[in-house]
Amino acid sequence: MRRPAEVERLYLDFDGFFASVEQQVHPHLRGKPIGIVPFKDATHTCVIACSREAKAFGVQNVMTLQAAKEVCPQLILVPQSPDLYRRAHNALLSEISTVIPIDTVKSIDEMTCRVLPAQSDDPLALGRAIKKRIADNVGPYLTCSIGFAANRQLAKMACKAGKKIGDSYGDGNLIWHPRDMPEPLEKLELQDIPGVGNRMEQKLARSGITKISELLATQPKHMRKLWGNVTGERLWYALHGYDVQTPPSGRSMYGHSRVLPPESRSIESARDASRLLIVKAARRLRRDGWNAGRIWLYLQLRDNSAFSASWLPDVCDYQAILSALEKLWTDIRKQLPRYTRIISLGVTLSELTRATERQLDILLNDDFERQKWEKITDVIDKQNAKYGKTLVSIGPWVPPPGGYAGGKISYTRIPRAEDFY
Ligand SMILES: [Mg+2]
Repeated sequence: MRRPAEVERLYLDFDGFFASVEQQVHPHLRGKPIGIVPFKDATHTCVIACSREAKAFGVQNVMTLQAAKEVCPQLILVPQSPDLYRRAHNALLSEISTVIPIDTVKSIDEMTCRVLPAQSDDPLALGRAIKKRIADNVGPYLTCSIGFAANRQLAKMACKAGKKIGDSYGDGNLIWHPRDMPEPLEKLELQDIPGVGNRMEQKLARSGITKISELLATQPKHMRKLWGNVTGERLWYALHGYDVQTPPSGRSMYGHSRVLPPESRSIESARDASRLLIVKAARRLRRDGWNAGRIWLYLQLRDNSAFSASWLPDVCDYQAILSALEKLWTDIRKQLPRYTRIISLGVTLSELTRATERQLDILLNDDFERQKWEKITDVIDKQNAKYGKTLVSIGPWVPPPGGYAGGKISYTRIPRAEDFY
């Protein structure tokens, strides 16, 4: 694998995106601590994003309203406007593209670009040019942080590290040049590595790894073993500055969406419907030989929408996918008032990788639980295919009265998955 000697990638992440868009569009919110909430009048809800001024008080993205008000009593609540954010996203992408081609759009406020050899001499100037273009043509309240490095993963970490330097927040422009590595990494915590959460940190601690320097000192195969799949090995190469490419999937997602019949619009009925839709999506995913790395749930409510997403360890079996969906419901319920009526919903599996890749891993590894569920899933699929309908399922399978016939979604009202990556 190639190990670049120059900066080759940049990662760009907008600072407090939803809140900055609101401040750009509504001058009276500028310079004030604001918190974006899912609904106009909901007392038991949470702040889903906040402005830098609110962050200075200690408000965090995703915090209960009560906790946010405790640290910042003057917090101004602003109900979310997903369509405005989507339009801002599109405007920003087109402005950035005039400076540098965009390689991958990672989410509504994150993207990566390839830094061309002609630009790699002075990445700071490139960063400033992007920022100036945005300030001049979209607005100066939409600031972003940019990280530069040998590969995408390191650029992402540089972006995050550059966002918070000392007491300042946002507008970062940080370069991790390959010749300076791995020193900047050693100042970070294990959890600063994308994909390392609490559970992974504990697992690493049990193997005697509590610092990034200790992780860097391992061998690629060791990290593969620690992670239980090829992701660990890929991460080793990424952290050591190699040009690691995620294999292109050729397809980006599998999903289904439905308008719910009026009698099935409670949270419970919507949850039943979502299980059905995700199993259908997973069935197609499996049939085409993919694993999914991310799962999404969107709800369209009367005047609003809500969504939740989480990472999956590259899976295609029903148990893994259905249990991830349950967690999304637990999460999204916290955003919803109790008697919410759900008009339509959508589920999506994305970040696809070839199933054969993981299968190879299964042969090499001890991922017993996954193997077992994949076998069970195969048996379920074969049974159902034999009878041409869903006879066997994991957990409840509750089609609404009359099925979903005629309940086609209106594509103008359900956000498209790529709007929220
Ligand atoms: Mg952001």
